[in-house]
Amino acid sequence: MLDGYKRDINYLRVSVTDRCNLRCVYCMPAEGIKTIPHEEILTLEEIFKAVKAASQVGIRKVRLTGGEPLVRLGIVELIKNINSIPQINDIAVTTNGLLLKEMGRELQKAGVKRVNISLDSMDKKRYLSITRTGKLEKVLQGIEEALRLGLNPVKINTVVVRDLNFDEVVDFARWTREAPVHVRFIELMPIGTSSPWAGDQYVPAEEIKSTISSELGPLKEVKKMKGSGPARYFKLGNAKGTIGFITAISDHFCSRCNRLRLTATGGIRPCLFDKREIDIKTPLRRGVSEDILARIFSEAVLLKPDRHHMDYGWNDKRVMSQIGG
Ligand code: SAM
Ligand code: SF4
Repeated sequence: MLDGYKRDINYLRVSVTDRCNLRCVYCMPAEGIKTIPHEEILTLEEIFKAVKAASQVGIRKVRLTGGEPLVRLGIVELIKNINSIPQINDIAVTTNGLLLKEMGRELQKAGVKRVNISLDSMDKKRYLSITRTGKLEKVLQGIEEALRLGLNPVKINTVVVRDLNFDEVVDFARWTREAPVHVRFIELMPIGTSSPWAGDQYVPAEEIKSTISSELGPLKEVKKMKGSGPARYFKLGNAKGTIGFITAISDHFCSRCNRLRLTATGGIRPCLFDKREIDIKTPLRRGVSEDILARIFSEAVLLKPDRHHMDYGWNDKRVMSQIGG
């Protein structure tokens, strides 16, 4: 479906939960956030019906996210059902990887083709202090399992925060020489918890890139990358993996944006940085038909702004895990 700026919107990011088993410093406050009562969260049946309706009007790719999607009970069954929708040809998951070792195989069997795994440090102590509760070995085992299963590509999401992990970007880049991992450096965004300090701690992608190439040599641009979305990818010599940059701040990619979001509470959110949402939970609970729901999706697409206005600040009370990252 085309939006008002002639962008083809074919990608739906679905937040299946606001809950998480980590408390990353840039995403959540230390004490966590008050969880949304269960009855306000879409049921798995409601999510499935929404995705089916969206597929009628051009959604072809679905990514499940959260909060942490793998803590949602029934997630495998949901994926299986989404995989049975003929129009959906790509199902991916964004996860912190803690449960991937145990769940990787069943996720793949259910239809997951690829995963994005978040990892901000390869140092045990530092990983613990960034995530406040996480065990590095668990994520590394999850990444190993994803590679062993042949999920492809395995992308690593690394948010770069100047005083926390900027000194590790060269190590992350070096890793791509040996392993078929696609490390994507994400510019820190002033969202929710990080909004008061993100400005000081933000590292522009160009600085990350020049730090890497001055240590490890030139980065050659890779044009074709599966599910490349907003990132630009590069390679070090004949490395097995690639290095990507997600430049939401320094060079927004809004003109190439092809996505809609569905929040865990049933709001269609046309742009992450725009508070406007179209409620589909109420119609779903009143028994809306799939056709009408499909029409709501195509109308929601027309609300997509031409570009984000993050520079005006984050004026949503919620944090990233509540909207869906
Ligand atoms: N829990 C899952 C995970 O961590 O991969 C999925 C949800 S998480 C909100 C999705 C992605 O958003 C993660 O890669 C996370 O690092 C990123 N993220 C969260 N807050 C961010 C921020 N303020 N700036 C940039 N990226 C952020
Ligand atoms: Fe949880 Fe992901 Fe947020 Fe970390 S970034 S607290 S893993 S939702």
